[in-house]
Amino acid sequence: MALELVGSCRCGAVSFTVQSHTPYPYQLCYCTICRKTAGGGGFAINLMGDSATLKITGERSLGLYSAQIRDDATGACETSSGQRRFCMGCGSALWLYDSQWPDLVHPFASAIDTDLPVPPRRTHLMLRYKASWVLPAIGPTDLCFDEYPEQSIEQWHRQQGLWLD
Ligand SMILES: [Zn+2]
Repeated sequence: MALELVGSCRCGAVSFTVQSHTPYPYQLCYCTICRKTAGGGGFAINLMGDSATLKITGERSLGLYSAQIRDDATGACETSSGQRRFCMGCGSALWLYDSQWPDLVHPFASAIDTDLPVPPRRTHLMLRYKASWVLPAIGPTDLCFDEYPEQSIEQWHRQQGLWLD
């Protein structure tokens, strides 16, 4: 059975619930957007839920950040299709939604109040963008990627036998 994730910002202006088949916080993203907007330890952890089940309280306190991403090769800037939502009162990063994958929503584990299961191993991604002072704590069976991992969040959960029907 899917797990209901209950999330909130620090000041309480925004709270939300969403159903998740993939609640293991195993994916640590060190990209500049994640670590600056949601990653005090040098990374953010993205979960995944079913966007159709997302219920929001306090919607008018929600801010929207669409990052500009510069192409290293051409120098051209593009606005990311990822919509990063945060509380305008306290600044807590809450979730990411991308219209390219309309069925999904990616809450930040840091915003979740539900007790999450502990992942048996973790995936470290976007390591080429990590801050120089960050020493990733890489476990013996963890996977590491300079950019995106090969497996989606769904594929990883299914492969590990951790997908919740
Ligand atoms: Zn708040």
